[in-house]
Amino acid sequence: MTRQHDMIIIGSGPGGYIAALRAAQLGAKVAVVEKDHLGGTCLNRGCIPSKALLTAAELMHSFKHAGKNWGITCTGEIALDWSRIQKHKDRVLRQNRAGIKNLFKGRRVEVIEGAAAFEGPGRLVVTPGKGDPVRLESDRIILATGTEPARIPGWPEDPKLVCTSDEAVHWSDVPRRLMIVGGGVIGCEFACMMAPFGVEVTIVEMMPALLPGLDHELGSGLAKIFKDRGITCHTNVKVENLQTGKAGLTATLSSGTSLEVDRVLVATGRRANAHSLQLDAAGIGTNDRGFIAVDETMQTNVPGHYCIGDANGRCLLAHAASAHGVAAAENALGESRPFDKPIPSAVYTFPEIGAVGLTEQEADERGIPVSIGRFPLSHLGKAMASQHTEGFVKVLRHRETDALLGVHMLGHNATEVIAAAGTMLHHKATTHDLAEVVFAHPTISEAVKESAEDALGLGLHLPPRKVITAEAVMG
Ligand code: FAD
Ligand code: NAD
Repeated sequence: MTRQHDMIIIGSGPGGYIAALRAAQLGAKVAVVEKDHLGGTCLNRGCIPSKALLTAAELMHSFKHAGKNWGITCTGEIALDWSRIQKHKDRVLRQNRAGIKNLFKGRRVEVIEGAAAFEGPGRLVVTPGKGDPVRLESDRIILATGTEPARIPGWPEDPKLVCTSDEAVHWSDVPRRLMIVGGGVIGCEFACMMAPFGVEVTIVEMMPALLPGLDHELGSGLAKIFKDRGITCHTNVKVENLQTGKAGLTATLSSGTSLEVDRVLVATGRRANAHSLQLDAAGIGTNDRGFIAVDETMQTNVPGHYCIGDANGRCLLAHAASAHGVAAAENALGESRPFDKPIPSAVYTFPEIGAVGLTEQEADERGIPVSIGRFPLSHLGKAMASQHTEGFVKVLRHRETDALLGVHMLGHNATEVIAAAGTMLHHKATTHDLAEVVFAHPTISEAVKESAEDALGLGLHLPPRKVITAEAVMG
């Protein structure tokens, strides 16, 4: 028997579960198909587990520096109980999965367990782990199937030796020497996480800098901090060969260096999870990178079929997936609104990174005339008092229209502070608007205002760098 729903959503990550709740809130009879735990990559092997581990790592880092920085010393040993940290992480995952289950129950969203594949447009077969396949039909289907980690063909396949973040967040112990291939977001977060636990970390990144997807000053600023912490970064370098031996793994780098390590974490990006969906049966197209192609309303080339989050490849972040999910659910139920919202990035190294809007490289590529404001955290009273002086805020302003184009921050609490800048960009504020906001004192977020003032040549806590006209002051 084939079952009918107003809407079917495949995948229960931050894209799928939010789309389901929004559609149900709008009155639709919704089913979510999920082949694994509720919560997707974000909850089970991404954002949440990695942040639990990172919080413990930052605490360890603070303990280790408390004597030198504050004169607070510990007479006993500061020891690591990794299994306790893992237990905390697992408890948080269970709590959050139960939370999603309850939210679904509250809005009568049906969960159908199993792997979904298309049999035709609007027609799905779901194959559960046990039992018979179930057939489903709907005029509205949202694909929220996410991504999986890229792997490097030909490398040893033992996940205890060469793994991805899927395994690394659940490691039962920490290695002594770790090589991380890829200095992107996962590579930097794991390097930062492992170093305080006494792990010897080496990052190998093929591009000229860490975090090449973000404004270039963020990656170079972080690289300096990593160097001071003893994290080795090889940039512009690839791993040419990786072999297992008696002493662990031996990597030969394109720079000619040879490295002995105990474990390798491959963090070289992620690929769409589209292969098992039988997209051809529904006629749904993919783009040249293998992601499911969508228009600005999140609709695929097949009417009524939408794709959100990682699976469409537009922005591989959890909050982007959720925002896409709301847009797709509303559009599938009658709206026709393009999705056009600035999406902030948050990187949970310590210090953190927060960024929203255009990078300097993107402005250059598009020929947009910008003036750039900067403010070092070392000039802030709060940063000095709390010994969080590493980092800066950088603001990009359109030189002709005064539009606020981008805000990039490396520094303590940057993932929280960036929300202020995101709000301003969302409301299409000018740089004068941001400079005129009153920020509480003493806070780290004052650096955002100071940086906006600097972009206008109006900073008061930096030495004057040009003659200020009354016109500029008045906006
Ligand atoms: P997913 O969360 O991947 O969910 C897809 C779901 O679809 C899965 O549950 C999967 O089992 C299911 N599925 C797939 N195919 C089928 C099928 N055929 N049938 C049934 N079910 C299917 N992002 C942030 O914003 N902040 C962070 O701090 C952050 N940290 C991260 C840390 C790590 C280590 C990783 C790997 C990622 C991190 N991300 C972070 C990225 C974030 O996890 C993803 O952007 C987000 O999970 C994407 O959500 P989604 O709903 O599109 O897909
Ligand atoms: P990424 O795209 O951020 O970084 C991959 C890095 O690997 C790039 O710098 C790339 O140049 C490098 N690389 C690729 N192939 C290589 C090779 N053969 N040798 C050396 N370097 C190589 O991808 P990721 O770090 O794997 O993360 C995947 C996705 O997960 C990202 O898109 C990110 O948005 C998301 N994520 C987000 C967060 C967060 O928001 N805090 C945290 C973790 C992951």
